[in-house]
Amino acid sequence: MAAYDTIIRNGQVADGTGKPLFAADVALNGDRIVAVEAPGSLNGDNEIDAKGKVVAPGFIDVHTHDDTYIIEHPLMEMKASQGVTTVVCGNCGISASPYGRSDIPHLISLAVKKTENLAKTFAEFASKVDAAKPAINGAFLVGHSLLRFDAMNLDVGREATPVEIKAMREQLDLALEQGAIGMSSGLFYPPAMAATTDEVAEVAKPLGKWGAVYTAHMRDESEDILGSMNETFEIGRRAGASIVVSHHKCAGRANFGRMSETLPKFTDAMKQQEIAFDVYPYVAGSTILRKDMLWRCDKVLISWSDSVPGVSGRDLTDIAAEMGCSIDEACDRLQPAGAIYFMMDEKDVQSAMSHAGSMIGSDGIPFDTHPHPRLWGTFPRVLGHYSRDLKLFPLEDAVRRMTSYSAKRFRLSERGEIKAGFYADICIFDPATVIDTATFDTPMTPAKGIDTVLCNGAVAWRDGKPGGGRSGRVLRRGAM
Ligand SMILES: [Zn+2]
Repeated sequence: MAAYDTIIRNGQVADGTGKPLFAADVALNGDRIVAVEAPGSLNGDNEIDAKGKVVAPGFIDVHTHDDTYIIEHPLMEMKASQGVTTVVCGNCGISASPYGRSDIPHLISLAVKKTENLAKTFAEFASKVDAAKPAINGAFLVGHSLLRFDAMNLDVGREATPVEIKAMREQLDLALEQGAIGMSSGLFYPPAMAATTDEVAEVAKPLGKWGAVYTAHMRDESEDILGSMNETFEIGRRAGASIVVSHHKCAGRANFGRMSETLPKFTDAMKQQEIAFDVYPYVAGSTILRKDMLWRCDKVLISWSDSVPGVSGRDLTDIAAEMGCSIDEACDRLQPAGAIYFMMDEKDVQSAMSHAGSMIGSDGIPFDTHPHPRLWGTFPRVLGHYSRDLKLFPLEDAVRRMTSYSAKRFRLSERGEIKAGFYADICIFDPATVIDTATFDTPMTPAKGIDTVLCNGAVAWRDGKPGGGRSGRVLRRGAM
């Protein structure tokens, strides 16, 4: 009689901790890994042959804006196809709850398209996600900018009053109690630019009490990046929270090479408090279209435009020439819109990615018409291009930066390792062929070499298509 539901046989296990590959069979019962034993020693009702493949924990995409995309598109093909089994949503100050209004401000629309997906409380929002039966898991941060829009009645171009700060803090506290995993801020963006360090630190206070995380899209990732790091570290310290600096970069040619300043600063600060950062493996970023970002970019592509829908994927310079106007003027005519900004140095990206404190997050923007290729390509690109081809770090270390390290930093318990007792979130891939295929020209194509992806024991992706498994869930703080 078979002892287990499923055995993954003949594979090389990268268990997520960074330890060297080892040959083992992995047994699953229900939603859990129940045994990791010598090859040939286990029997199961179903067998998955992983000969020539690596059996790794499912990847955790620590930086996403998939908050409501996961409700509208529960198969999550752009992530499951990369081996991702958990997305951390609610980054950069943007989330879908808790929010008592029914309008969707411009910045929030990056992650929320439909009013019906907004929710007054985190509990209500989480039940919408669970009801959608997604193929993969979601963990959710509360966005500080969303709290501002709500508490300040959209009047966000100023500092919050003590009464408004108290209201935001209480909303955050309740959301954390209901299972949100932390708070994100986006002081770089207009809705939060006027917020002072004191405001954010005061709002963030409940984080420490709940053991929750503070993630920051910092106020400045260019000239004043060191000042912004100080501000972020101070907020985390005052809130008693573990910090994750989002998509660490030194933006603009004038700042190329400044990882030689930021990385040692991170290393020092990491000795004093819990700090990590995430990185995506590209020299271009992407967000809403902003005139004040254009001057520091080598090239700008339009990712979507509501006023001129036909221009998605095209170079802003060409669009302006065609319109017969200046680039600034073209920028105005395209609004509201999104863009892809080429503004980083490849060497900087590589040194950030290989720093001891870094983990992988895509920062993909799921609703864009012509998205940045990171949405479909991030994880296979790190494995295939950076680890295998460029040998930036060993495969086992690449996997660690996508799994156990990420799970620890975001407090996702019993995830991120191939270990008996842990959840059966698993990615089986071919180390010789794994690679991203999404490019800046054709950004929505699935990666190669991802064989089978299991989430809570159910097949989320197999043989280049969704596997039918719909066992993803909301990973609630303290109850995972
Ligand atoms: Zn951001």
